[in-house]
Amino acid sequence: QSSDRVFNFAAGPATLPEIVLKKAESELYNWRGSGMSVMEMSHRGKEFLSIIQKAESDLRALLDIPSEYAVLFLQGGATTQFASVPLNLCNPDDPVDYIVTGSWGDKAFKEATKFCKPTVIWSGKSEKYTKIPDFDALEQNPSAKYLHICTNETIHGVEFKNYPTPKNKDAILIADMSSNFCSKPVEVSKFGVIYAGAQKNVGPSGVTIVIIRKDLIRNAQPTTPVMLDYKIHAENNSLYNTPPCYGIYMCGLVFEDLLAQGGLVEIEKKNIKKGQLLYDTIDQSNGFYRCPVEKSVRSLMNVPFTLEKSELEAEFIKEAAKENMVQLKGHRSVGGMRASIYNAMSLAGVEKLVAFMKDFQARHG
Ligand code: PLP
Repeated sequence: QSSDRVFNFAAGPATLPEIVLKKAESELYNWRGSGMSVMEMSHRGKEFLSIIQKAESDLRALLDIPSEYAVLFLQGGATTQFASVPLNLCNPDDPVDYIVTGSWGDKAFKEATKFCKPTVIWSGKSEKYTKIPDFDALEQNPSAKYLHICTNETIHGVEFKNYPTPKNKDAILIADMSSNFCSKPVEVSKFGVIYAGAQKNVGPSGVTIVIIRKDLIRNAQPTTPVMLDYKIHAENNSLYNTPPCYGIYMCGLVFEDLLAQGGLVEIEKKNIKKGQLLYDTIDQSNGFYRCPVEKSVRSLMNVPFTLEKSELEAEFIKEAAKENMVQLKGHRSVGGMRASIYNAMSLAGVEKLVAFMKDFQARHG
């Protein structure tokens, strides 16, 4: 990467591929001979329509999204989806199930209590969110309308490696994939709804992607604001109101780049390599560094770790920053460190971090 850029381990908004930023820079002032920046275009003009349509078709190619699914480009972040999901998919008295593997799943559950009757059927809170449950032992509500999971808990670094099946055959699996979206292939047909904020793996904040099975798009609860109504957005191809045009354009550039890298099978291989390198360094440090998460469910995106000598944490962050590695502080709710190594973090960035960690240990261990 260019010498004037830092290695940014932020959890989101997060680092983007340099090639994407440079392409955007080259088109910033005059997009492909249109004489306009994408920021200045009418969202109903032919230029922007070509941008949003290409972004959708590239995302469909990347995730192999079946034709029975709609793709929506929305606003409001994944947080808005915490309300949109129950408002669109159930009535106020309907029971629904939530598996809570971290703070985001917990927030999704709490928001749903306003719009339906959710139950937490499993929570990892008492074990400090370091685990994913055994699916066979789950007690699901037989009449639940859906089962909600967060496939990657950004703060705690816990990632589902496979997915539960709702017990009620009519119930649907819903996933907040914000922090591992497009980091690996996913069998979309297992899910009724997948949603993700763009700002980790696929673009800037301000764009929220919803992938929803078309037969689930129906009348929302009557009080649902139009901006939260999937039917309205689907019927208008995400152009009911002014969409986050520039963000959608940036997502489109990221999708093009992911396809050019060979698609999500190749991306996953790179992510596994980076994750292994970092986790091995932690595990082989004789306890100098520790990752609390159960090994089989460690996230390939967000790697939380602590220092045995916690008084050295501030020094670790300070020295790392001097070497151009930033945003390594853990989330304020859990402390310690967290290295987010999304798609756009290069192997070179992780190698640099690991070399620094070993050197830091040699000096302070
Ligand atoms: N879900 C997950 C897994 C997240 O990591 C985040 C944000 O970091 C959110 C939801 C909330 O997303 P937003 O800030 O886009 O509303």
